[in-house]
Formats: sequence, structure tokens, C-alpha cells
Amino acid sequence: MEFSSKLIEDAVREFSRLPGIGQKTALRLVLFLLKTEPSRVDDLANTMTKMRREIRFCVECHNISDGEVCAICANPGRNRQQLCIVESIRDVIAIENTKHYSGRYHVLGGILSPLDGIGPEQLNLTDLADRIRNSGITEIIMAISPTIEGDTTVFYISKLLKDIPVTITTIARGISFGGDLEYADEMTLAKSIAKRLPVENYVNIR
Ligand SMILES: [Zn+2]
Repeated sequence: MEFSSKLIEDAVREFSRLPGIGQKTALRLVLFLLKTEPSRVDDLANTMTKMRREIRFCVECHNISDGEVCAICANPGRNRQQLCIVESIRDVIAIENTKHYSGRYHVLGGILSPLDGIGPEQLNLTDLADRIRNSGITEIIMAISPTIEGDTTVFYISKLLKDIPVTITTIARGISFGGDLEYADEMTLAKSIAKRLPVENYVNIR
């Protein structure tokens, strides 16, 4: 695309670096901003900068947080006996949207994938066993994508926790997910949380 303004060209280039935004959409957004009050554009830019610079990760569960501990971990109304292990922050958002889970989370920050060089040390696993031992948790719910890497991760964590007296379950997989948890509709995801299975049974079924 040819532009008569370097300023417009730069803005379009920056927008088109975002996922799902092609050059045409980027140009549409830039032209929209051009018609917007400059103070509104300042607000947009400042909000993004503040979000990126000030966001933190919860020291307990590794979820995104505005403070040292996230709003979920800090909420005394949450069930302290259940811990749901998820791959990413997007999964926390998807499960929270179902409104059918009231326990807490542990965000791994990925799943084991030896071919991609992702081993246990790349994930938030070092503090997991101690966290479970010291916090009165009685049930671990694995909410991890039903892929080979996901299964490998479930097995690894089950072994890691084998000496700790907790029940380990996995969300039901008989229900089709269509891939990542993020894309499961809220009702399907809520059902699969309700119909969770002990990890050993799950292994037999698969
Ligand atoms: Zn937290």
C-alpha cells in the first residue's frame, strides 16, 4: 500500500502487526483515529502503555494481576480446596466465564513439548508441589487441551504430585472441545468441568 504520509504509513504498519489485522483493517482503524478527538487517542495510547508496563503475574498462581496476588487468589469466597491447573491465562478467562468453577488456579505458562524445546523448567512447575502441600488443597483439576503434549503434561504433573494426598481429576474429554479450551463454548466447558474424572480412569478410556 502506498501512502502520501509517512505518519499514516507508520501507524498502519504498527496496527497490521497485531494478530488478525491485515493492512486494509489497519488502514480503516488509522482513518478512524484520524477523525477522533486527539485526547481520546491519547487515552487509548496511555491505557495500552499503562497495561503493558504495569501488569504483573500473581506470585501464587501466575495469573495476570494488578498487584502481587491476583483478585482470584485474594478472594476469600473462593473454594480453597480445589486447584485447577491450566496452560494459559486465556484458559483462566474461559473457565471464569462459565461461572461454574469457584476454586483457584495454577497457570503453567505452556505445556510440555520436547520437540519445541519446552521442558518442565520452562513452565511454572517449581512451586506447584509446595503450594499444594501448604495450602489445604484436596483436589487438583487438570484442564489441559486433549493433545499429545497435553497428555504428556498431565502425566508429568501426576507423577510430580504422586506423594501428596490429593485427588487428581481431569475435565471430561468425551465431550468434543474443538481444540483449545478457549474455543469451547461456555456450556460445553461448564459440563466438562462438572463431569470430571480421576486421572487413572481417564487414562483407561483413552
Ligand atoms: Zn493468583
